[in-house]
Amino acid sequence: MCLMSRLATAFLVFPSLLTLVNSPLPGAEKQPNILFIFSDDHAPGAIGAYGSKINKTPNLDRIASEGAKFRNSFCANSICGPSRACILTGKHSHKNGFLRNGNEFDGTQMTFPKLMQQAGYQTAVIGKWHLSSNPVGFDYWEILPGQGSYYNPDLIQMDNRKKRYEGYCTDIITDLGLKWLKEQRDPDKPFIMMCQHKAPHRNWAPHPRHFSLYKNEDVPEPPTLLDDYRDRSALLQENEMSIKDHFFWAHDMKFHGEVLFPEYFIGDGKNGEYARMTDEQKATWDAQYEPENADFIQRMKAGELNDRQILSWKYQRYIKDYLRCIQAVDDGVGRMLDYLDEAGLAENTIVIYSSDQGFYLGEHGWYDKRWMFEQSLQMPFLIRWPGTITPGTDGPALIQNIDYGPTFLDIAGAEVPSEMQGRSMVEVLKNGGRPTAGWRDAIYYAYYENAAVHNVPVHDGVRTDRYKLMFFPRTKEFNLFDLRKDPDELKSLHADPEYAVIFEGMKKRYRDLQNFYDVNTAVIPATRGDEKGWQQRDNELTANAKKGGVDLAFIGDSITQGWEGSGREVWQKYYGQRKAINLGIGGDRTEHVIWRLTHGNFSNIQPKVAVLMIGTNNTGHSDQAPHQVAAGIQRILEILKAQTPETKVLLLGIFPRGKSSFDPKRLNNMAINQIIRRYADGKGVHYADISNVFMEEDGTLPESIMPDALHLSEEGYKRWAEAIEPMLRDLGV
Ligand code: CA
Repeated sequence: MCLMSRLATAFLVFPSLLTLVNSPLPGAEKQPNILFIFSDDHAPGAIGAYGSKINKTPNLDRIASEGAKFRNSFCANSICGPSRACILTGKHSHKNGFLRNGNEFDGTQMTFPKLMQQAGYQTAVIGKWHLSSNPVGFDYWEILPGQGSYYNPDLIQMDNRKKRYEGYCTDIITDLGLKWLKEQRDPDKPFIMMCQHKAPHRNWAPHPRHFSLYKNEDVPEPPTLLDDYRDRSALLQENEMSIKDHFFWAHDMKFHGEVLFPEYFIGDGKNGEYARMTDEQKATWDAQYEPENADFIQRMKAGELNDRQILSWKYQRYIKDYLRCIQAVDDGVGRMLDYLDEAGLAENTIVIYSSDQGFYLGEHGWYDKRWMFEQSLQMPFLIRWPGTITPGTDGPALIQNIDYGPTFLDIAGAEVPSEMQGRSMVEVLKNGGRPTAGWRDAIYYAYYENAAVHNVPVHDGVRTDRYKLMFFPRTKEFNLFDLRKDPDELKSLHADPEYAVIFEGMKKRYRDLQNFYDVNTAVIPATRGDEKGWQQRDNELTANAKKGGVDLAFIGDSITQGWEGSGREVWQKYYGQRKAINLGIGGDRTEHVIWRLTHGNFSNIQPKVAVLMIGTNNTGHSDQAPHQVAAGIQRILEILKAQTPETKVLLLGIFPRGKSSFDPKRLNNMAINQIIRRYADGKGVHYADISNVFMEEDGTLPESIMPDALHLSEEGYKRWAEAIEPMLRDLGV
């Protein structure tokens, strides 16, 4: 981009060059319009242009045949809200702050629509938004609340009113998009219109005009429908997104009433979409589903179906509804393309079709998304740009949703801010979709929504054109896949000696990309709520905090939690009468404390003093660099200051660990301490390093004080209490 804009400037400065090439001044060229059609959960595998074997999408295919499709198009975080936040900001989730669904998007931050407005564009977004806060940077918006509804949807208006439209959501969003194009925009200005469908998101409620599709045929099952999750991280087994075990009776499978076969279906018998329908819509719906449902129930009661047949029935119910929902999206795309033709807009309007992530269409036995496996990592990306993209282009360049914003800005002739992590794809688009010199050859991916619906663990990783490395922090496991030899990703090769060099190389790529994108996991809020013991302890701490009346809080990891173990008697003596609370959880790192302090552990307390000692697990588990851990501690101090500004923090240097004073982990803690001691400000934050009370003169840690050279004995706790007692008194507790 920088080169592009320098060239543009050069042309402006030396107009004589222009006469030589006899082309118009770039600035004088009409800025192209952008129509960005975006759906929700549409896997490339269900698009004709991507080789779908299960459905036909003639209108989407038209964008590809008149323009380009990208076969290596990926999301940065495979879930609805986060993908949208990545697109708006051009940044990975850890930089835009929207890590998980349920977060609230900070609309005050830099986004591409704001910059498009500055570049003279009209900006509009219609349909699914799913970022909690209202859109900022749009001249016009009308959005579905949350996930939105298929039938008779409500849309939030710019004055915050909700307006209900009778009809089918996909058609209504298309209608509203066309209305804005026809009647509401300023025809003298370029536009970017984001037309964002709910479809084909769960719970897959089709329009009746598509009920007859697949009526008398079976959709082919994917070869990995019966995946047993062997040869990969054991965490795969914990998933709660399988077609076999995790479909809701009413919500997903469209039965009425209470669950009849609870060993095969879950849920409470409610289908929210059905509840929204008019009597007429319900009658049409029931005419479609009830005969099939009655037939299934009768065969189940008669014991005619075995487990394999029941799985197949569920798959067919799911995939047919999913594909029928896509058909309405394809219809809508066709209507918009037709309108661009009729209105004479097609030549100067770039049309893009994408979806927030991919989806499992039975692969690995799943529905839903989230995992870094191909089906949900991929996003469709179809683009038509008359005169610039050669029709029928099949682009192999590795692109990602963080590239969309920079691309739009580049198209508009605007500067791409350096804080955007994505890159303009314009040079790639002009190069037949092939990577240009210096284009990326690996993408970074990160998923954060653990301890939530579908039970997928935190993981991140790197994908090149051939290999994929995933890392699961909970079990500290790497999985490695060779996509050429194992496109279904059924066997991790991380322990295969033949792949040892590739494995090491991919680990280096992973660390390098983390550094490149400034990923510091020590500052990214993380729950361990997918570990039962942790969840229980966290709930107890929050319950204790809610009681209030705390003067002294100890915050930390197992060393702090140990005040309830070998430190119990010492605690009683020193803190038993001082309204003290123990907020330590064994195994916690800075990122977990950041999570806890903002999710209940500090909800109703304003202690006079908080004793903070955290970070040794960042060293021990993750080998995080001193400056990274220090940043995590700094973030905790910021949170404490924001939550209870009157609290004085006694920040303790991380205790020494390891027998010898040359133990690398001890050295790491010492290096962290050299940074965090500077956080003391003499007012809210006070620093003390009490390492000496635990060590012999030569720096060794005696077993009598630290039996495992990490945790404290009763004598250790006694020394801790004695060392900080004068400080606590000075600080007023
Ligand atoms: Ca989605």
